[in-house]
Amino acid sequence: MDVRRRPARHLDGPVSPGAKQHRGVVVVGGDDASSLKASDALPLPLYLTNAVFFTLFFSVVYYLLSRWREKIRTSTPLHLVTPAEMAAIVAFVASFIYLVGFFGVDFVQSLILRPAGDVWTADEEEEDEVVGAGADHEKILLREDSRSSPCGQALDCAPVVQKPKLVDPVVQDAPKEKVIEAVPSALPEEDEEIIKSVVEGKMPSYSLESKLGDCKRAAAIRREALQRMTGKSLSGLPLEGFDYDSILGQCCEMPVGYVQIPVGIAGPLLLDGREYSVPMATTEGCLIASTNRGCKAIFVSGGATSVLLRDGMTRAPIVRFATAKRAADLKFFLENPANFDSLSVVFNRSSRFARLQNIKCAIAGKNLFMRFSCSTGDAMGMNMVSKGVQNVLDFLQNDFPDMDVLGISGNYCSDKKPAAVNWIEGRGKSVVCEATIKGDVVRKVLKTSVEALVELNMLKNLTGSAMAGALGGFNAHASNIVAAVYIATGQDPAQNVESSHCITMMEAINDGKDLHVSVTMPSIEVGTVGGGTQLASQSACLNLLGVKGANKELAGANSRLLATIVAGSVLAGELSLMSALAAGQLVNSHMKYNRSSKDVAKVTA
Ligand code: ADP
Repeated sequence: MDVRRRPARHLDGPVSPGAKQHRGVVVVGGDDASSLKASDALPLPLYLTNAVFFTLFFSVVYYLLSRWREKIRTSTPLHLVTPAEMAAIVAFVASFIYLVGFFGVDFVQSLILRPAGDVWTADEEEEDEVVGAGADHEKILLREDSRSSPCGQALDCAPVVQKPKLVDPVVQDAPKEKVIEAVPSALPEEDEEIIKSVVEGKMPSYSLESKLGDCKRAAAIRREALQRMTGKSLSGLPLEGFDYDSILGQCCEMPVGYVQIPVGIAGPLLLDGREYSVPMATTEGCLIASTNRGCKAIFVSGGATSVLLRDGMTRAPIVRFATAKRAADLKFFLENPANFDSLSVVFNRSSRFARLQNIKCAIAGKNLFMRFSCSTGDAMGMNMVSKGVQNVLDFLQNDFPDMDVLGISGNYCSDKKPAAVNWIEGRGKSVVCEATIKGDVVRKVLKTSVEALVELNMLKNLTGSAMAGALGGFNAHASNIVAAVYIATGQDPAQNVESSHCITMMEAINDGKDLHVSVTMPSIEVGTVGGGTQLASQSACLNLLGVKGANKELAGANSRLLATIVAGSVLAGELSLMSALAAGQLVNSHMKYNRSSKDVAKVTA
C-alpha cells in the first residue's frame, strides 16, 4: 500500500510539512513512510498535486504581474482590485504556502532547529520499521536499553548518565576522544580530576583503593574511567548495594560493579534425616524446578543417605633433580612411613586446621611430583595446603640441597582441570549418596518406570559416557547442580570441573518394584570459611543450610555437611532429568510402534 495516498484522518496527529510522521503510521505503511509530506493529505498522487500548485503559482504570478503593468500604464490605483484579481491573490498565497511547505521548511528546519525529544529521529524510524516488520528481539532490546534505567533495586543511578547513543554500533565505533566528551559525569568535581588521571594513565586503576581509602568510591571512579576509555556503557551492571570493603584483598580486584544472579530454592531435600532448603544460583530455566521434583521424589520415598568417604585437599609441587635416581631417592623418603611424623609436624605448622594425611609421588624422568593431601577444617583449603607444602619444601632442602623447586603446583594436584588423579584418588570431599525410590513414586512423581530409568542409566550414563571417553562424567548433569549451589554458597565456581565428577548408578530392587539410585562424587571441593563464603549473599545461603562459617564443636563438620548436601542435591537432579529423558524415550517408543496419539498423551500427562 502506498501510504502517501492515505487520507489525512489516518494520521495520528497534526503534521507539519517536512516533519516525519507518527510511529503508528510507519508501522502500518512500511518502508515508504519516511517520505510522508503534508501534501499526502490530498486525494491526488504527489506528482499531480505538485504539478497543480506549480501551474497555479506561475499562472497567478503571470496574471498579477500583467495586471500590475496594465494599472501602471492606465494610472489606475493599485488597491482597486477586481474579484478576478482577488481570487488570483488568494491562489498565489495558497500555492506559495504549499510550495514553501513542501520544499523549504525541511531545509530551514534542518538549519535552525535541532530534533526535539518528541521529533522522530532517523534511528528511531529504523527501529520501528524493524518492530513493525517482525519484531527482531535484539532490536527491541536495543531500543529498551536506550531508556533511562529506573532507580532503586540496587541499580546504579548516581554517577553515570548513559547516553542512549552508546548502544548504537556507529557510536561504539567512534573515536575514543569523541565518546569521552559525549559521556557526562555526575561525580563530584574532586573525583573528576582522579578520573582524568586514570583515563590519561597517570594513576594506575589498581591503586585507587589504597590511595583513596574508600573502596566504594574507588569502584565508582574506576567504573567511570573505564566507560570513558572504552566508550562502552556499564549501565545495567549495578554499582550500588554492594559492600566493596568485603572483597578487598580477598575476592576481587579492581571492581566496577557486580553481576546479579537469581537464587532459587530446591527442596526440602531430606538427607540423613534432616531437611534442607537448597539455594541454587542459576540463569538456566527449569534447573531448579527439575531438582525440586527430584527432592520431592526422595522426600516421599523416605529420604536419602550419604557417607563421606574421605576429606583431604591436595597440592602437588614439581621438583627436578640432576638424575632420575635422585628423584627416586626423594620419592622413597617421602613415602617411607618412618618419615611421616616429622614431615607432618613441619606441614601442620601452616595452620591449626591443616593436618597432613599422605604424600603420593609420581616420577617423570628426573622430575618428581609430590601430591600432598591434608584435612583443612571448614576451609576449602587451597591456601592452607599450599602453605604446608611450602614449609615441607623448605625443610627438604636441608637433606636434598640438589632439589630444584620448579613450582609449588605441578598440575598433579590437580586443580580446576579434568584429571584422572582426582577421579581415582579423590580431592576435597569424597561422598556417596543413595536413596531408594518407591515404584509408585517413580510413576506418580517422576512420570516414568523403574525399568526405563535403569535401562537409560546403563546406556546413557555408563555406556554412552564410556563411548565418549568420559573422565568422571558418568552422570546426566551433575555439574548443573554443583555450579548453581557453588555460586549461591560462595564456593570457587572453577572447581566445578572436578567437583562434578560423578557416577550415577541405578538398579531395580525389591523384585524390580523399586529403584535404588546413587551418586558417587570423589572430588567435592567446598568450604564454609574463607574465599567467597564470607560475602553477605553467599553467607546468607550457607546460613539457610545451617553450615555458615566455622563449626564451633568440630572443625570441618560444616564443610563436610555442605559436601553431602551438594551430593544429595545432585542425586535429586539426576533422578529428575533422567526421568524426563526416560519419559521422552517412552513417548518416542510409543510413536515408533505406531501407538495412537491418545496413548502418547497418557504417557506424558
Ligand atoms: P582456603 O585455604 O580455603 O583458601 P583460607 O586460607 O582463605 O581458605 O581461609 C581459611 C582461614 O580461616 C584460615 O586462616 C583459618 O585459620 C581460618 N579458620 C577459622 N576457622 C576455621 C575452621 N573451622 N576451619 C578452617 N579454617 C578456619
